[in-house]
Amino acid sequence: MYTNIPKGTKDPIFALNESFKNDLREKKIDLGVGVFKADNGLTPLMKSVQVAESSYVIKEQSSKVYKGLMGNDGFNREIGKLLIENNDVRESAAVIQTTGGSGALRLISDYIYSVNPDCTVWVSNPSYANHAPILKDAGLKICYYDYIDSDSRMVDIKAVLSSLNSAKEGDVILLHGCCHNPTGADFNKEDWTQLKEFMKNKRLTPFVDIAYQGLGGTLEQDAGGLNILLSEIQEMFITSSCSKNFGLYAERVGAAIIVCKQKDFVPNVKRRLGNIALNSYAMPPNHGAAIVEKILTEPFLNCLWVDELGHMRERIKSNRLALYSALKDLGYIGDIEFILSHKGMFSSFGWCESFINIMRESHGIYIVQGGRVNFAAIAKNDIIRIASSICAAQNLLHRVLSPV
Ligand code: PMP
Repeated sequence: MYTNIPKGTKDPIFALNESFKNDLREKKIDLGVGVFKADNGLTPLMKSVQVAESSYVIKEQSSKVYKGLMGNDGFNREIGKLLIENNDVRESAAVIQTTGGSGALRLISDYIYSVNPDCTVWVSNPSYANHAPILKDAGLKICYYDYIDSDSRMVDIKAVLSSLNSAKEGDVILLHGCCHNPTGADFNKEDWTQLKEFMKNKRLTPFVDIAYQGLGGTLEQDAGGLNILLSEIQEMFITSSCSKNFGLYAERVGAAIIVCKQKDFVPNVKRRLGNIALNSYAMPPNHGAAIVEKILTEPFLNCLWVDELGHMRERIKSNRLALYSALKDLGYIGDIEFILSHKGMFSSFGWCESFINIMRESHGIYIVQGGRVNFAAIAKNDIIRIASSICAAQNLLHRVLSPV
């Protein structure tokens, strides 16, 4: 009874990753999986992480005793500082260390359901592929808001606000703090300000998921949107991940933050978060959190990390420029200015399924459904091949769709 069960659904990105591994062609290229890669195709272990781990964390550790339901307090304090500018707001925030950003998403979803089971959470269309499944699995209802202008591939703020007009008081609006996954299209300052006014007037609660802080702009710039909201909105959910900006993917480090209306609400909110954690995994692993705490508190490590993050950001930007120029040179049909305006690892080109299939089958280039390209996974030597494959796929489809 417990083992003869129906076939489950496959996550599209994991499935793509599996087909990539099984592809025997030597010159295959993976632009799908959402990890940062150096030009040699490997995901680097950051120097700051390496030094924090070997010269500090391992040397200073004398015990592996439990840390408690909130996880590593030093990590929680430092992550709070990294995200929230205002000291008073930070003092009204309950922070709990989680198993990556995904763990934080689940914990906040469970929290929302435990307090307000009738709540609807509004998710951008499109959004990070796991947002809707995590929210639904926690029992929450979801609705989608329009997000991107399909021609310019930039945020359509009018469409965002017009779809959110149907949200009712108490609903939660899930926003990407920066480097929107999958589109790469972010709100600008004016958009965040409009969103703040809109949510304040309609009494909606923002839920900001920030998984790429420092990979779009500086750390402060990437947390700018959520701080604009916090300048006037008193209650907010934040989920944060250290997978990408510290390269700590497998260590599973993240944080869930609930900004409370009043400082004295924090202990009860923390207790509820702790109870939810206790009913599933109990306590998060400490190792990665201890590394992050060290990097954020040791000035020399902090400088090293900020510098490394800057180089990662520059690599993404230069890959954007290189692919943009190559596509222009090779005669790509359509507006591709968005490549240079988008932030972070991804841009979504909006390609159809046939296009993605041609790229995979004829050119050995793996791209996620909807045309999400990971610019951090492009090796400089592959730029021309990728651009000419894209143009060839475009020409082929053009010929098929408009036969003479
Ligand atoms: N949120 C967003 C928007 C993401 O793109 C991701 C994955 N990259 C996550 C959360 C989860 O990250 P992780 O669980 O690896 O920390």
